[in-house]
Amino acid sequence: MSKILVINCGSSSLKYQLIDMENESVLAKGLCERIGIDGSLLTHKVDGKPDYVDESDLPNHQVAVEKVLKALVDPEVGVIQSVDEIAAIGHRVLHGGTKYSDSIIVNDDVKKVIRECFDLGPLHNPANLIGIEAAEAAMPGKPNVAVFDTAFGMGMDEYAYTYAIPHEYLEKYGVRRYGFHGTSHKFVSGEALKFANLDPKKGKVIVCHLGNGSSVSASIGGRCVDTSMGLTPLEGLIMGTRSGDIDPAVVQFICNHEKIDVNEMLNILNKKSGYLGMSGGLSSDNRDIAKAQKEGNHLADVAMTASRYRVAKYIGAYTAAMNGVDAIVFTAGIGENDGEFRAEVCSYLGYLGVEIDPEANKARGKRVVLSTPGSKVKVLLIPTNEELAIARETKELTNC
Ligand code: AMP
Repeated sequence: MSKILVINCGSSSLKYQLIDMENESVLAKGLCERIGIDGSLLTHKVDGKPDYVDESDLPNHQVAVEKVLKALVDPEVGVIQSVDEIAAIGHRVLHGGTKYSDSIIVNDDVKKVIRECFDLGPLHNPANLIGIEAAEAAMPGKPNVAVFDTAFGMGMDEYAYTYAIPHEYLEKYGVRRYGFHGTSHKFVSGEALKFANLDPKKGKVIVCHLGNGSSVSASIGGRCVDTSMGLTPLEGLIMGTRSGDIDPAVVQFICNHEKIDVNEMLNILNKKSGYLGMSGGLSSDNRDIAKAQKEGNHLADVAMTASRYRVAKYIGAYTAAMNGVDAIVFTAGIGENDGEFRAEVCSYLGYLGVEIDPEANKARGKRVVLSTPGSKVKVLLIPTNEELAIARETKELTNC
C-alpha cells in the first residue's frame, strides 16, 4: 500500500498522478478537461501504452474523480487491480491563509479554513475543496492531505511579509505577502541543499521558478526568507500574461482614462499583460517571444530583456536580504529549458562572482551544475516536480 494519488483541481480541470512511493515512479497520469462544460475530455497516460481518451460527459468534479479511478483500475489501461491499493490522496490547495505553514491531513476544520480562504484564492480554493470532497466521496475512509501553495511563504519574518499600508488591513483581512509556487520552491530549494552539498541549516538558496507563472524565493536552510509573489500571484516577475510589480497608481490612472473599473483593470494585469501585453498581443509564450526577438521584433526584444532584467534584480535583492547566496537555482518551463534566458540573467551577476559554463548550460530538463568550478556561487538546474513533492508530504503525514 504505497501508492499515492495526487490531485490538482482547477475550476474546470483535474490533473492527477498515481505515484508508487516504493521507488517514486509515476504509474499513471492524466487530465480531465472542460469539467461542467460541453466537450469534456479525460486523457489518461501510462508509460509504454497508447494514451487512453474518454470523451464522455464530466458534469462535475465528482464524476471526474470516479472516471479517473475507473481508468486506474481498467483491465486494459489501468495500473492497479483495485482502488484499495491507493493508500492516500494528496491535494494541491492554493491558499491556506495564515493558518497553515505545513501540509495537513484533511478534517472538517481544514475544510473550514480552505473555505474561509475562498476570497484570497477565488479561482482555485473552491475547486480545490470540491476535489477533496469528491475524493472523500469516491474513496471513503482514505486519508486526504492538503498541500498548500502558500505554506512555504509562512516562513517569512513579519517585516518581510508586511505591506506598508495601514495595519488594520492585515488585522481585518489578512492582507500581506503570502507567496505562491510554495510546493515547488520548497522542493527545489530542499533538493538544491542536498545536490550542492550545502549546510542543511544555513545554506542560502535563491530559486527562480520561471514558467508561464514565475516567482523567485530566497531561503536559508530551507526556511523561506522572502518570495516575489504577494497577496496574489500577480506581484513580482514579468510573466506570460501577468504584469508583476507595478506602481499601484497605474491602476487608477488607466481606469480613469479608459473608463473601466478596478475589476477590469485587474483582469488586464492578470490576463493581458506580461509577455502578451508587452509584445503588443503577440504571445504569452516564452518560445514565441524569443523567436520574435531573434527576428528583430522590437517589442518582443523589450519584453524578453525586461523579463530577464527583472529576474536579475530580484536575485540581487534577495542576495542582500540573506547577506549572501550559496546557490542560485533555475526551474520550471523556462528555467529548465531556456539556456539563453539563464545565461542572460547570470550575465548581470558578475559582481557576485557567478560564472556559467556554456557547455553545461546547454542542458535541458535535467539536474545539473551550470556554473564553472571556479564560480563563487553555484548555479544549478533542478527540474521541479510538484506532484512528487505533494506525494512525499502525503506519505510523511499518513505513514503509508
Ligand atoms: P510552465 O508554466 O512551467 O509549463 O512553463 C511554460 C513556459 O516555458 C512557456 O513560456 C514556454 O514557452 C517555456 N518553455 C518551455 N520549453 C521551452 C524551451 N525549450 N525554450 C524556451 N522556453 C520554453
